[in-house]
Amino acid sequence: MEKNKLEYKVKSHPFEILNLDELFITITLNCNANCPYCINDNVHTPVMMNQETFTKTLNFAKENGFSTIYLHGGEPTIHPSVIDYAKQAKEYGFTVKMFTNAIKMDVLEKLDGILDIIFLSFRPNLSDNSSIFLSQADWKSKLLLQLLTTEECFPTLDSLIDITEKARDLGMMVNVNTMNPIDQYSYEHQLVKYLEKMFREISIDKIFCMSNKAAFRLPNGVVARLSNKSLNLGHLKFNVEPDGTILDHFAHNRTNYIQKKPEIETELTKSEKRLVLLREYYK
Ligand code: SF4
Repeated sequence: MEKNKLEYKVKSHPFEILNLDELFITITLNCNANCPYCINDNVHTPVMMNQETFTKTLNFAKENGFSTIYLHGGEPTIHPSVIDYAKQAKEYGFTVKMFTNAIKMDVLEKLDGILDIIFLSFRPNLSDNSSIFLSQADWKSKLLLQLLTTEECFPTLDSLIDITEKARDLGMMVNVNTMNPIDQYSYEHQLVKYLEKMFREISIDKIFCMSNKAAFRLPNGVVARLSNKSLNLGHLKFNVEPDGTILDHFAHNRTNYIQKKPEIETELTKSEKRLVLLREYYK
């Protein structure tokens, strides 16, 4: 009974709408890491998006009002043209973001000042994540640290908050996530009991929905997104694969969205028209 009440009252969050103006471009499926909780089951496929497809994708994004290009993988820094692609996307006038595991720091340093935002992924299976903690003062691009949290890495709420404060002291933006339970490893490591406890005890009006997950703020204001409290809507986003095909994260989630947020139907319809155009474009 209590669970239903929570799900029903989870509030919408404006970030979900903002995502509809972003185009995720998977420039490679390949990755230089091997995380046991990776959500991409084809992550080590050595496929790279070529220049022709990348340009075609940017042209489409420009013609159809996308504001932001999100260079994505796999691990985008292992694409030999990632710097040229980032520059090209900037020349087209897009906000350009990239999500990275920060293993190839030499490439990241060359991307500094070209990218608007670098999302740095804290990987909990590593014994040493120190290279992830960068000083914003040394970087022109904005840095956002995404902490994938497990109890092994952060056994207490204080230990987690200490790390978020360290990142903030360095000038980084920071947020906290738990693992998607996609396999045995992530299932066994995704439950962070103190976050679960906070979620149960926090006032219902302090819980909101962010990128399809139930979220709330830690005592220092940092957002924590709980995968074990997923709203089960999938990612509402557009994603172009390296060969130019479109991954549909959209259509099958529509009904769920309308039921929960009838007010966004107009926005969805506008975005669906874009999706149809995008598919036609790549035929
Ligand atoms: S760094 Fe990311 S993409 Fe690469 S294996 Fe780990 S989770 Fe998967």
